Amino acid sequence: MKLFIAIDLEGITGVVSELDTAREGPAAVIAREHMRADLDAVLEGCFAAGADEVVVCDAHDDGRNLDAAGLPPQVVLVSGSSTPYSMLQGIGRGYDGALFVGYHARAGTAGAVLEHTWNYKVFAATLGDLEVGEFGLGALLAGHYGVPAVFLSGDDKAAAEAEALAPGIVTTVVKTGITRLAAGLHSPRAARERLRADVARALRAEHRPAPLAWNGEPLRLTFARVEFCDRAAGCPGVRRVDGRTLEIPGADFEEVYRGFLACVRLSDLED
Ligand SMILES: [Zn+2]
Repeated sequence: MKLFIAIDLEGITGVVSELDTAREGPAAVIAREHMRADLDAVLEGCFAAGADEVVVCDAHDDGRNLDAAGLPPQVVLVSGSSTPYSMLQGIGRGYDGALFVGYHARAGTAGAVLEHTWNYKVFAATLGDLEVGEFGLGALLAGHYGVPAVFLSGDDKAAAEAEALAPGIVTTVVKTGITRLAAGLHSPRAARERLRADVARALRAEHRPAPLAWNGEPLRLTFARVEFCDRAAGCPGVRRVDGRTLEIPGADFEEVYRGFLACVRLSDLED
């Protein structure tokens, strides 16, 4: 069994503040220790269920949050930044499942710890009636390659978002969101016992969820401010809908995803 894991930081056990998710500082160091401990628990669940190969994408910020030291020999860690698929670098055909670890709810969700979608410039991303965040975009790209989204861990809002989008997915809630910057943190020991058991259960399940299918709608990407949209609006193939919104078409979801990434990256550039 070959598995793909995308691991972010905002939905990791113990993480609740932007000091935790920053690149430097004492809180950031502790948060990375929690990230590694959550990953180790998830990997134990994967191997208990019979995994022989696991690709892990370090998906937070510059992708340099995890140390490869001590990882089991069956694991490849995709580390670093500026990759074509960003948070999903390494995904492709041939995986038996995609796992989303330490994920957070999409931008605009109430009571969701550190909610956002990709960066703090994105206000909303929708495919027709379907609003998507980082989990939805990642699960759809995995689905494009025939890979089902089988597991997610994060706060209670991220878990609810995943269950609504991908019925049958197994989730582990490691904290309960109170506000964007406050949560009821679960005991790390208890959270990791559940991560291990839930991942193994997700992978042993007789009926895994089907790969998520794109509904064929172009992606409507709304930025928080007009200037962010101005920067991205020159992207070829993209249509400007209004001051803050672009429409990103594609022949398949992989093309839509690449268009989304290009626009989000452009929105960050000042020139
Ligand atoms: Zn994120």
